[in-house]
Amino acid sequence: TVECRGIRKVYGALEVMRDFDLKIDDHEFVVFLGPSGCGKSTMLRMIAGLEEISGGDLLIGGERMNERDPGDRGIAMVFQNYALYPHMSVRENITFGLERAGIQKSAIEQRLAPVVEALGLGVYLARKPTELSGGQQQRVAIARAMIKTPEVFLFDEPLSNLDAKLRGSLRVEIARLHRDLKTTSIYVTHDQLEAMTLADRIVLMKDGRIEQMGTPEEIYQTPATVFAAGFIGTPN
Ligand code: ATP
Ligand code: MG
Repeated sequence: TVECRGIRKVYGALEVMRDFDLKIDDHEFVVFLGPSGCGKSTMLRMIAGLEEISGGDLLIGGERMNERDPGDRGIAMVFQNYALYPHMSVRENITFGLERAGIQKSAIEQRLAPVVEALGLGVYLARKPTELSGGQQQRVAIARAMIKTPEVFLFDEPLSNLDAKLRGSLRVEIARLHRDLKTTSIYVTHDQLEAMTLADRIVLMKDGRIEQMGTPEEIYQTPATVFAAGFIGTPN
């Protein structure tokens, strides 16, 4: 479980998140939906331990994790811009985190094989990220997160830089990985089709707060506020 209890976030005098209450069950797929600047990335980064929490409590697996420390909380994050290391090969990009954690080479190889298989990256292992398409780079970013065998997967608009066809196929892959690995996933998107098809539950955010949450059907059929109705109805 990932539990946010009254989480607050300030940057200097600017309050960007307040009263954020959310409990995410194991194996649940939760989508954060909301306009630009509403705090989706900030919330993910706090859950990942990449960002200080200004108030409230974050509990992961029942343990309080307010400290800023991405190290050891069983979470892996896939960023919008891939954030691959340009000077490293695909293989090194995927395994670097495990090597740094001191895991043995043979153990890393064992973990690499199924990840490479799942994402169809076998033929690209020796290449540099610049020699890959956007979709292939994003696969590497997902592989790098997957190989950590995280309990919680965080995705920050992982498909937004891709064309519609690739978006569709990677969306299906992400849904399959979530199911096969039995992870808990939190997924940020602007894309309503992604939200509809991936989410067990949609969290609709506005100005650093939760505006409404529910199943995709609940949100789309009975938007609770004018904002929800307007946001859901508008292509963006
Ligand atoms: P988008 O959909 O555009 O990615 P978002 O919902 O992910 O938006 P955040 O990046 O979480 O939004 O930003 C939330 C708010 O916090 C914004 O008003 C943003 O300007 C502000 N913010 C984010 N990072 C910082 C920072 N390092 N310093 C000051 N303000 C910041
Ligand atoms: Mg963002």
